[in-house]
Amino acid sequence: MWNYDHIFHSLLILVLFLCFYMNLPRISLKINKTFVNLIIVCCGVIISDILSSYADNNNMDFSIASLYLVNGLFFVLYFLRGYLFFDFSVCAINQDGKIVKTGKWLSRIPFLICCGFVVTAPLNHLFFYIDEMGYHRGSFYSLTFIEMFVYIALSYIVCLAHNSSISRNRDLNSIYWYNFILFLGSVFRVLFPYYLLMDTFCIMAIIVIYLSFENPDFYLEGHTWIFNSKALRSYLRENYSKRNFKVLTFIIHNYREIKELYGAPQMDEGIRLIGDFLRNAYGNQTVFYCRSGRFVILGDAAFDCAAAYEYISDRFTRPWIAENTELYLDIGAAQLKFGGMPIPFEEAMNVLMTSFEVADNAVGKDIVVVDDELMKKFCEQTDIKRNLEYAIEHNNVEIFLQPIISCESGKLVGAEALSRIRNKEGKIIPPNLFIPIAEKNGRINELGEQVFAKVCRFIRDNDIEKLGLSWINVNLSPIQLMNNNLVDLLGEYISKYDINPEVIHLEITEEAMVDEHLWESQIEIITGKNFKFVLDDYGKGYSNMSRLKKCPFVNVKLDMSIVWDYCKYNDELLPDMVSSFRKMGFEITAEGIENQEMADKMKDIGVNYLQGYYYSKPLQCEEFISFCKSNL
Ligand code: C2E
Ligand code: MG
Ligand code: MG
Repeated sequence: MWNYDHIFHSLLILVLFLCFYMNLPRISLKINKTFVNLIIVCCGVIISDILSSYADNNNMDFSIASLYLVNGLFFVLYFLRGYLFFDFSVCAINQDGKIVKTGKWLSRIPFLICCGFVVTAPLNHLFFYIDEMGYHRGSFYSLTFIEMFVYIALSYIVCLAHNSSISRNRDLNSIYWYNFILFLGSVFRVLFPYYLLMDTFCIMAIIVIYLSFENPDFYLEGHTWIFNSKALRSYLRENYSKRNFKVLTFIIHNYREIKELYGAPQMDEGIRLIGDFLRNAYGNQTVFYCRSGRFVILGDAAFDCAAAYEYISDRFTRPWIAENTELYLDIGAAQLKFGGMPIPFEEAMNVLMTSFEVADNAVGKDIVVVDDELMKKFCEQTDIKRNLEYAIEHNNVEIFLQPIISCESGKLVGAEALSRIRNKEGKIIPPNLFIPIAEKNGRINELGEQVFAKVCRFIRDNDIEKLGLSWINVNLSPIQLMNNNLVDLLGEYISKYDINPEVIHLEITEEAMVDEHLWESQIEIITGKNFKFVLDDYGKGYSNMSRLKKCPFVNVKLDMSIVWDYCKYNDELLPDMVSSFRKMGFEITAEGIENQEMADKMKDIGVNYLQGYYYSKPLQCEEFISFCKSNL
């Protein structure tokens, strides 16, 4: 009575699918394991379906007990399949690890109840029963549809409940789709019970799952057989709570330059060769490639990172021979252990990524050990980065003003605007911590724009002349100067706040002058718009006086390091420098004045302006206004 001809095809398709899938490298994740279990159980359902249908069609040839057994096996696997589809939906929704693991046992209850009916069927005949006439449905047979409908409904409910935590819309769409296919299959099963079409619908659902979630390519880097950073992230997130693994990260030094030198195809081939070498040495599961010449090896507790690095760096002493090219590559490495300091997963990922930078900058061949102290430092940096992003996004960058005093009159003549951001507790983060980060990630342009806008607003809102100020200095990073639109941007704020550009002095450092061509053209355009330039931090690091001759600075600021040096040792260098600058027509400001004696010494050598804690630390705008008023 059962028509099971076409389910042989379904079985064949599933077995081929399974073989193909198992043949590719797979990362050991719960979602992948659930997928494999699902295919195996689907095969089991088909095989037991064929067996039970055959036995039921030929019931005279079988004992009642064996008919119960074979039908019971089919129904248990059938119910398990329904549960596994739901379990897969949960894994797919939970790829970001955001769903708290509650209700796992609760969600198994429908499956367990159904199994209870199957197992007790010989006693109570409720679900099905067998007599001399063969197989019969019991009064609770409709459980076969109900269980599937319940799990489909649960999948939709979990999807809707965690809608916002699913990162890719496509994922959500796919989950809806394969559950809809299963729903159609179940409806068909209700309408045409003798056709055994449910398996075909299950295969369609599995194909949708494969295309959306399970294509092993999703976890592999390019055309290589090495796992990518998505795989690393997923694997670490799933296993992070155990924290019993060691991590070795290494990076190819000067990857970008080398890639340009050898060419992209050769480099890609080189990466493939390195990947093969690592996979052979450390197994499939543990090697990851995170682009830009960055590799990660995850080892168990017994993994010896230092020995592994020695082995790997020894291989790197020989060339990687790829497509008629010999690639000579050099690496730096770091080792991490997540067992010690308890940090959240996202922080751990940041630490891991920062370890590449540290490995890249490390001097010598030694492996960098990322211990708790270094990890803490990385986490602090991440925190600063976060606060910086927040301040920029919410227009929360603050300006503090530090007075600049004229040596001649002893009065306040100007101020320097210095930026500040705050952490969540409202504590100030100093610029030497966040400016380098902003310069690195490009946010300095937006930060500088906010500072400039706020200085313009301060000038518009306060009659600065009445406060005794002739100008306010604003710091410009060399990166801002590289922006061709800088002058338009500055001009926009000048017109918006309707102020005179001459009252804003732009402080730049010598680093901005490294690219002479760019610098000369920029300075010409900007001075053309009536802005004035000040040279900041003169004497800090490498300084070149002759380069300054042709620059239109109105002021040169002596870095506090040379001011302090002079005040301690009284050499002749600084007075000579000051007189040379004066001859060149520059006025001079000395930074870092902390007491009267320092101020006197600077006046004696011919400095024009003084700035330092002796007069005042940088102040919030209201405090600064009070300071000005009390100094009038
Ligand atoms: P800078 O431009 O050389 O600013 C002077 C720094 O010296 C300020 O540090 C100031 O607080 C500090 N200072 C002033 N007088 C004394 C003193 O008597 N003793 C000591 N020990 N320090 C003194 P701050 O505000 O921490 O700024 C550090 C640096 O961060 C600045 O050095 C500047 O290069 C950079 N910066 C600050 N704000 C901005 C900004 O808005 N844009 C850019 N691009 N850089 C900024
Ligand atoms: Mg400055
Ligand atoms: Mg300075």
